[in-house]
Amino acid sequence: MKNIVAVYPGSFDPPTNGHIDIIKRASKIFSKVIVAVTHNCNKKHMFSLEDRVSMMKEAVKSIKNVEVSSFSGLLVDYLDKIDSFCIVRGLRALSDFEYEFQMALMNRKLKQDVETIFLVPDQEYTFLSSSTVREIASLGGNFKNFVPKSVYKEMIKRGKENV
Ligand code: ADP
Repeated sequence: MKNIVAVYPGSFDPPTNGHIDIIKRASKIFSKVIVAVTHNCNKKHMFSLEDRVSMMKEAVKSIKNVEVSSFSGLLVDYLDKIDSFCIVRGLRALSDFEYEFQMALMNRKLKQDVETIFLVPDQEYTFLSSSTVREIASLGGNFKNFVPKSVYKEMIKRGKENV
């Protein structure tokens, strides 16, 4: 394998075990994986950019070749900035496919040499999304098995502070 730095972009609001599964897989393939937390003003987030970055940092700190960063604006501009051409995305089910396919082709239109690599998580994470976790958490349900331990602790702590 060549010496390739891959970027895994996403909202990660919050990071879930599905995201971590994809990051672990990517870290075995690429020399370095940069998890790039997106700052998207058009999306209403549960957690601030700073919180999402720090939760992700804590969750991946034991994986040696993974870094966590953030960006705003176009992904292709961020790729240029860090001199990478490779995007990693996770594919859970057919429902992800259309959106991901469109994004991959659009990114390639914007930057010709961009490649998007899709990784499939373990079956047990195919039903999992940040939005489900947010929903369960806001309704007081048990989401312990869906997020990294550190994320769970942080979310519980915040929940209590907000009571
Ligand atoms: P975005 O807003 O960019 O879709 P997400 O944080 O929802 O950000 O997802 C980031 C990436 O991780 C996407 O490619 C998404 O398909 C993938 N992903 C999300 N949840 C899972 C999961 N449970 N298993 C595998 N991949 C996932």
